[in-house]
Amino acid sequence: MECVWCTENQASKATKDCQWIEPGGIKVIMVTDVPAIHCPRCRDTYLSDELNEEIELALNTVDLDKLGHTFSYEELLKAPKMSIFKMAENGMKFSCK
Ligand SMILES: [Zn+2]
Repeated sequence: MECVWCTENQASKATKDCQWIEPGGIKVIMVTDVPAIHCPRCRDTYLSDELNEEIELALNTVDLDKLGHTFSYEELLKAPKMSIFKMAENGMKFSCK
């Protein structure tokens, strides 16, 4: 597959553990095994913009109280969504480092 940064076609599929930080940086959530792209030329493993947005949306719509601090991408997708009222209070920023 092609790297979105350098268009190197030796990029391969990988997985990455990502951190999710609440406003104020108090609560840190770890999402493991996120589908990522690894590029040997950039020497980096990163998420596509589409997936990054998808995870950001998912993290803002699922009930994180039920998931805990560390969970996998699979678990995030299967997690129950929270009520619309609680959703409005969120707005966490995703940072996959
Ligand atoms: Zn690259």
